[in-house]
Amino acid sequence: MKLDPELKLQILEKVGIYSNRFSIPEPTILLTTKEVLDAPKEMTEGRRTSAYKYYGVSYLQHNLVFINVRKIPDEKTLENTIVHELIHMRFPYLAHGKRFNKLVRQGLRGKSFLPYRKRTKAHAI
Ligand SMILES: [Zn+2]
Repeated sequence: MKLDPELKLQILEKVGIYSNRFSIPEPTILLTTKEVLDAPKEMTEGRRTSAYKYYGVSYLQHNLVFINVRKIPDEKTLENTIVHELIHMRFPYLAHGKRFNKLVRQGLRGKSFLPYRKRTKAHAI
């Protein structure tokens, strides 16, 4: 898709809406490979020069998401990519798979998720 100011605004709006529903802090969004390359190296480590190959990349440690608008063919794929990456942010312990895909589908249908809490040791009173 062609990245123009209107599309950029639309994407940021969607990210805001889904971040809210998923109870995650809104990530910083990069929309071009140039922005990925310009970001501090330690933030994009591991998927820097290879980022162009993917529809999206999430850099979990830095709350940073790359949406590869240029590579994304249509609106539907764009929406999918945004939700996919934000599900990574909300469920950082989950790898790709059935459970992950189910959460993406639920997210696309408008489901909200409670905040992620790291498990703490059980305690007795
Ligand atoms: Zn993924």
